[in-house]
Amino acid sequence: MFLKLLKPGDRNPWVELLQLALNRSNFLKGGIDGIYGPKTEAAVKDFQKKNNLSQNGQVDGTTWNALFPYLTGYLQHKLVQGDTLYRLSVKYGTSLHQIEMANPHVDPLNLQVGSTVIVPLPFPVVPTQLRFTPTLLEICIQGLTARYPFLEVSSIGQSVMGTDIPCLKIGSGLNEVFYNGSHHANEWITSLLLMKFLEDYCKSAAYSGKIFGERASDLYILSTLYVVPMVNPDGVSLVTGELTQGDYYEKAVTMSKQYPNIPFPSGWKANISGIDLNLQYPAGWEDARDIKYSQGYTKPGPRDYVGSMPLEAPESKAVYEFTKKHNFSLTLSYHTQGQVIYWKYLDYLPPKSKEIGLMFSSVSGYSLEDTPEESAYAGYKDWFISEYNKPGYTIEVGEGTSPLPLKTFPTIYSNNLGILTLAIIASL
Ligand SMILES: [Zn+2]
Repeated sequence: MFLKLLKPGDRNPWVELLQLALNRSNFLKGGIDGIYGPKTEAAVKDFQKKNNLSQNGQVDGTTWNALFPYLTGYLQHKLVQGDTLYRLSVKYGTSLHQIEMANPHVDPLNLQVGSTVIVPLPFPVVPTQLRFTPTLLEICIQGLTARYPFLEVSSIGQSVMGTDIPCLKIGSGLNEVFYNGSHHANEWITSLLLMKFLEDYCKSAAYSGKIFGERASDLYILSTLYVVPMVNPDGVSLVTGELTQGDYYEKAVTMSKQYPNIPFPSGWKANISGIDLNLQYPAGWEDARDIKYSQGYTKPGPRDYVGSMPLEAPESKAVYEFTKKHNFSLTLSYHTQGQVIYWKYLDYLPPKSKEIGLMFSSVSGYSLEDTPEESAYAGYKDWFISEYNKPGYTIEVGEGTSPLPLKTFPTIYSNNLGILTLAIIASL
């Protein structure tokens, strides 16, 4: 995983990761702002001193390694004579159950000196106060899969820049459902939404708990949930400030100059080649093209360019191929914003789709609406409905201008928890 060398004066998303780790290790109170100022520097030096590292205030590979458990939420403890899992739980302030959950193949009564065990640390993995970058996604996936080994990760393909597009799988049921987020770059808060939900679902499943009133073990047994939290990692990287140089960045700058009224990079929705990934699916693509061309989106740019043909962008192609390999009974595509649920494509009426849509509307407070004509074609939902005649939804979360500020996240999460939970079993 690439974690950038940091020094005082830096301003970037890696500084937010640094501040998160310092918060969680109690070297810094609050103040996650992505600016490496004097308070952060003092905290880094303090951390370096306590960890016997050279106190240069620079966050290099060695310091990042020492901070890393406070990002992923677990550390690897090498067992010595006299260790018991219970003693480890006391030493690290965690619970015995959490350690046992993370180490299903370790026999607590027969610990092997010299082998390592995973020790989850006493805080949630997925932070809600940071820009959700592709790096943070990778960190959260590593943390969640270590803590909850029944959560499986794979890759559905690669982005234009060669970044893996991860997929998480949870559950053992025959019924398959699929959620995706961040087709659009400046809608990255939907990746956070999906990851936070996965953490809560995993936690409930691990501890025989309930989520939104449902027994997690029932959901787990009835359905298998697949989540692709970030379809467009390159675009998210651009909008969140991780990508600030290099050929792809320069090309994006050049493309954005063709559309001077769209702020850069905050108005960027497309993939890094300037193709709108949710106008790439083979469902009325020509109609989408005609509409978007007439609106002036005739070449690669920050948004609304349909590409030169369907499935030209590798990210949309990967989602398409992945869908083809499965038998999804229901899909949710997460976008921002508007607090609206779209459920229709043309005059298709998949069985149960209206009734499920109304139920989603009632548990979220979002309105169930027909898709406006100007965005009625070539989206993932449109293709899914036309290909399978099964319920597929586009959910536009939150209110405001994308990228939505993180302070809107708690409301977005509470509004969507019911949809995210009940969609797992709604199509049964
Ligand atoms: Zn969108």
